[in-house]
Parts: sequence; structure tokens; C-alpha cells
Amino acid sequence: MVMRPQFDRWLVGKAVAAGARLHEGESVIALRMYEGGVEVNTNHGRYQGRFVVGADGVRSLVAQHLFPGRRFHTIPALESEYHGIPLPSSVHTVPTAVISLTAAEKGYGWVFPKHNGLSFGVGEFVKGANRPRRSFDLFVRNEKSLEGLSISPPLGHPLPIAYQRSRNQENPWKGNLVRERALLVGDAGHLVDPLLGEGIYYAVRSGQLAAVAVFSALRQNPSHLQHYEESINKEFGQEFYVAAQLSRIIYGLPRSVHRWAGRTFPHAYQRVLRRYCEVLQGRETYQGLWRRMTDRLAHPFARRR
Ligand SMILES: Cc1cc2nc3c(=O)[nH]c(=O)nc-3n(C[C@H](O)[C@H](O)[C@H](O)COP(=O)(O)OP(=O)(O)OC[C@H]3O[C@@H](n4cnc5c(N)ncnc54)[C@H](O)[C@@H]3O)c2cc1C
Repeated sequence: MVMRPQFDRWLVGKAVAAGARLHEGESVIALRMYEGGVEVNTNHGRYQGRFVVGADGVRSLVAQHLFPGRRFHTIPALESEYHGIPLPSSVHTVPTAVISLTAAEKGYGWVFPKHNGLSFGVGEFVKGANRPRRSFDLFVRNEKSLEGLSISPPLGHPLPIAYQRSRNQENPWKGNLVRERALLVGDAGHLVDPLLGEGIYYAVRSGQLAAVAVFSALRQNPSHLQHYEESINKEFGQEFYVAAQLSRIIYGLPRSVHRWAGRTFPHAYQRVLRRYCEVLQGRETYQGLWRRMTDRLAHPFARRR
């Protein structure tokens, strides 16, 4: 696990080494499409290009200007960080990521150990009468691995969760990732996993897929930009769809149901939690987890490992 400033600096270094020109401290303020290209206005100047890739996060200006009428849904997350030494002894000896399904009303809480620090927070993943600040305060008060730390007030962030609004199972992003000469990657394209809120992998991967499509559009035909939306749908479509269903089941159920299931079916419940952790570790897909769960419901008495 890594602190973002460190990771982001490393990524920027890679881009510059590969030939990208870096303009720091310069904000995009407006964009417009014209025949054969895109114009980007910043607080320092004006740029023209054949294509534009919006990688400007959840409140993407590229999306606001070039993808009007797009619908999307964000969920609230609160996060704080602890830097420096001493770390709690539990973190020193067992550098374990904590995931707490009881921390939030309809989501989860986390503690992620980093080098000389921790990040921790709560995210509320299912719409409803959530009170994230209350969940955060309770979580940091009761979570053992945070005991004795002075906790800075959390910062609130919206997470642009994929699939919450779309009923289009075939392609939830239809027309929302590519329009004419513009495409959106990462949070700007709402490519955030609806079960875990994981977005970094999808931001990086969508950037790679966007690069392939832009390359092909430059070399062959501008219409090849559309391939980007198709590849995103192929790689993430079903996974995100299933993750959204799982999210409604896992986080939507009252916590008392989880406690009851844990007490009444301890082995089966532990098995489901183990699978959830395997998804976190990237060892299991959402579709695989879904298959196992539905299989278990269909054949409740069959022996399982
Ligand atoms: C509290 C919290 C915890 C999270 N934890 C995790 C985690 O543990 N693991 C994980 O995988 N994901 C996590 N995520 C999600 C993850 O942070 C995002 O999905 C990821 O950062 C998306 O990357 P991005 O490059 O698309 O957008 P961002 O990282 O948001 O980057 C957008 C960039 O665009 C710049 N920008 C914006 N507007 C303009 C403008 N007008 N002009 C110029 N530049 C502009 C911004 O300054 C920023 O540098 C978390 C999110 C939150 C809110």
C-alpha cells in the first residue's frame, strides 16, 4: 500500500520520461469541440489538439463541457490520515489492512497501513439515510488499531460509483465515455467499483485502453475512438454490474441480519467473508463470487471446501 502523493509523483515521472509535457499549476477552465479537433482553454493559455482525454477526476470539467446531460451518482466517503512514528504497536507487528463491515450504516470502514502512516475512513455505498460523519466518529473511536492516536478531522470526498443509475446491463456507459473527439478515463468516466470503491486500478487501466484507442484513431480513423468504450465495457461491464448487485445485498441488509447470519450459519458466513477478501486481494472476480453464492443458495447442503 502506498500514499497517493508518492504514487502520483512516480506516475508523473514515468509520463515525463515517456515524452509527456507537464504543465503544473495550470487549470483547465473551458473546452470546445470544433471540426477536426478540440480546444482547451486554461488560466495560462489556449491549446488545440485532435483529441482530448479527460482524466480530471470526479468533478471533471471535460465531462461538464463536452458530455452535457450525463447522469451519474456519487457516494460519500470520509478519510483521514495519520503520519509519522510511533505507529500503534498492532500496526507495527501486524501490518494488516482492516475492513469493517459494521463501521458504516450501508458500506464499510477501512484502515490501510502505509509506510510510516495510516489512512482510514468510511464509505457509504448504498443510498439511504446514511450519516457518514457519525459512522466515521464511531469507527475511529472503537477501532482497536487506531487506539491512542490523535485523529485529524476527516476530509469528505464523493466517489463516482459505476452502475448505480444505469439500468442498461449491456453497456452502462453508452455514450458517456466517448463523444466525438473526447474521451473520459478514471473517476471522470465514473469507473469506480461499486462494491469496494476501488478506483486506482480502473483509472490506470482505462488510461491504457484510452491510449490504444487514441493511437488507432490518430493512425487510422477518428471513429476508432469508439473502441475505447467497447473495451471498457468488455473488461469491466459485467464485473461492475455484479459488484453493484453484491453491494446492494452486502451493504443494504441491516447489520442485525449480518450478525444473525454469522451466528446461525457461522461456517457459511465465514466462507462468504473469505471470498469477499479474495476479491479484495484480486484473487477472485465478482462474477466468480456471485456464482458461488447463487450455487450455494441453490444447493445449500452440498459439501464445499
Ligand atoms: C476517501 C477515498 C479513499 C479512496 N481509497 C482508494 C483506495 O484505497 N484504493 C483505490 O483503488 N481507490 C481509492 N479511492 C478512489 C481513487 O482515489 C480514485 O478512483 C482515483 O484517484 C481516480 O483517479 P483519477 O486519475 O481518475 O482522478 P484523480 O485522482 O481525482 O485525479 C484527477 C486530477 O485532475 C486534476 N484536475 C481536476 N480538475 C482540473 C482542471 N480543471 N484543470 C487541471 N487539472 C484538473 C486534479 O488536480 C487531479 O490531479 C479512494 C477515493 C476516496 C475519495
